[in-house]
Amino acid sequence: MFCPKCGSIMFPRDGKWVCSNCGFEKSIEEKKEIVEEAKEKEMIVISSNAENLPVDDSVVCPKCGNTGAYWMLQQTRAADEPETRFYICTKCGYRWREY
Ligand SMILES: [Zn+2]
Ligand SMILES: [Zn+2]
Repeated sequence: MFCPKCGSIMFPRDGKWVCSNCGFEKSIEEKKEIVEEAKEKEMIVISSNAENLPVDDSVVCPKCGNTGAYWMLQQTRAADEPETRFYICTKCGYRWREY
């Protein structure tokens, strides 16, 4: 975490990031919200590209019972976790992931 004002390293203190150089404070909570937002955008990107994805005819949608779903592999952010397979129902567009 670096200070947006002067570029120095910031340290967490009382739930905030505090710049070691100029004293600039930034809420740690605020940063979490940005991460959530990025996750939502990721899912939108997945759904908009669904037409180009391969279809797995052996999976059943847990929501509408339709057989067949687009699928893709996505590496999770943690490097020690395996790839996650995402499905998108070809009928209702419901998205879920394989655990
Ligand atoms: Zn600073
Ligand atoms: Zn469905």
